[in-house]
Amino acid sequence: MVKNTLEDEDMTLLSYNLVVAGAGFFGLTIAHQAATRLGLKVLVIERRGHIGGNAHSVIDPATGIEAHVYGSHLFHCNSEEIWRYLNGFTPFTDYRHHVLTTHQGKVYSMPINLGTINSFFGKEFSSEEAQALIASQRGEITVDAAHNLEEKAIALIGRPLYEAFIRGYTAKQWQTDPRELPADIITRLPVRFTHNTRYFDDRFEGLPSEGYYTIFKRMADHPNIHVMLNTDFFEVRPQLHAGVPIVYTGPIDRYFDYRLGALAWRTLDFEREIVPTGDFQGTSVMNYADEEIPYTRIHEFRHLHPERNYQREKTIIFREYSRFAGKEDEPYYPVNTNRDKDLFEAYRKLAQREKNVLFGGRLGTYRYFDMHQAIGAAFKLFENRLAPHFTQKQPLDNGGDF
Ligand code: FAD
Ligand code: UDP
Repeated sequence: MVKNTLEDEDMTLLSYNLVVAGAGFFGLTIAHQAATRLGLKVLVIERRGHIGGNAHSVIDPATGIEAHVYGSHLFHCNSEEIWRYLNGFTPFTDYRHHVLTTHQGKVYSMPINLGTINSFFGKEFSSEEAQALIASQRGEITVDAAHNLEEKAIALIGRPLYEAFIRGYTAKQWQTDPRELPADIITRLPVRFTHNTRYFDDRFEGLPSEGYYTIFKRMADHPNIHVMLNTDFFEVRPQLHAGVPIVYTGPIDRYFDYRLGALAWRTLDFEREIVPTGDFQGTSVMNYADEEIPYTRIHEFRHLHPERNYQREKTIIFREYSRFAGKEDEPYYPVNTNRDKDLFEAYRKLAQREKNVLFGGRLGTYRYFDMHQAIGAAFKLFENRLAPHFTQKQPLDNGGDF
């Protein structure tokens, strides 16, 4: 049951067995597991006016097209358990994600593959020839010796391709020197010496055929789950029953009132436009590699669901801009420089001293989680900590195993 406001009646109901702060994938997975598997009564407190966290979607009233409010969310995973779990809420389509990128006015395929390499160098290299070329362009740096994003990218694709497709985009997206950024950001993108242009390599991929919003509605639709929207956890915390376990999925530094300093996050601004055409860019996501173009990418949501036969008179697009988050902004991506890593470690130690509170999710554990990773981490927390607590009285004497 989802409510819009906090009602006194709820706060006198001290019969909740579990409180979850945050109704994103992590929080709702915990609530759903607790209610369906252990029959627990769960109170979910959500600051925003909707459930689903950053994966929330709506049907845009002007076009009838499902828009992903916080940017395109592509589902992919290797875990059959997670795939089946989500398919239990709605079937998934067989959508396969492909991304294009524009550099100096020309369109290339991303992630970098044999086609990208050949069109960039104006050649028809074989796979082996392309590998030999990249090897000659990576200079001294080897993948194993690469310690930051720039070194890793150059080791993987050589300097010319790095400068064309990665440096400008990364500068816009992170506003941090690529030599300060962790190498694993770039390892998210495969590099292929084949003509495979798929964005993801995972076993399972697709989009919820009834929309992300339907998944969240169905996850929360249980008589034992009460969701309170527009409610900040910290405002109602004093009214909650002291002994009830809490799963906290908001920002970890906020939990400790920023007492050690603020962790760096990036936030995004989306500029929404309804364009009077049946097709604006011919694809769902077009990246813009050059620094002179202020946005990082344009999303055109109609292409996420070709099976829906949307009207052809107009289309909805989002231009995505990235910048550092202030305290009032939505934190989207942990920046994770060395300074952040140290600060997070200090917060993690504080969290380990908390009793009856478990930290989870992207914000609570300061991790660059994809949706399947958030769900997988919630399963783990439920199995390892919450279920043993409720069924075997195992104490919740630290903030979680993260
Ligand atoms: P969130 O979704 O952030 O949910 C946390 C919730 O807690 C929020 O609703 C927030 O309002 C609430 N909250 C915070 N503080 C409080 C408080 N004090 N009181 C009450 N509530 C609070 N993943 C993919 O798998 N594929 C993709 O293509 C993809 N694309 C992405 C694109 C963008 C632009 C972004 C930002 C993320 C993308 N992700 C993608 C990642 C995906 O959004 C996350 O993995 C997922 O949302 C994590 O769920 P979560 O519950 O941990 O966090
Ligand atoms: N990236 C890039 N150029 C692109 C796409 C990605 O330089 O056209 C880099 C950028 O640093 C980005 C990282 O690769 O942060 C990971 O890309 P991904 O698409 O996974 O980013 P996300 O989905 O998190 O926005």
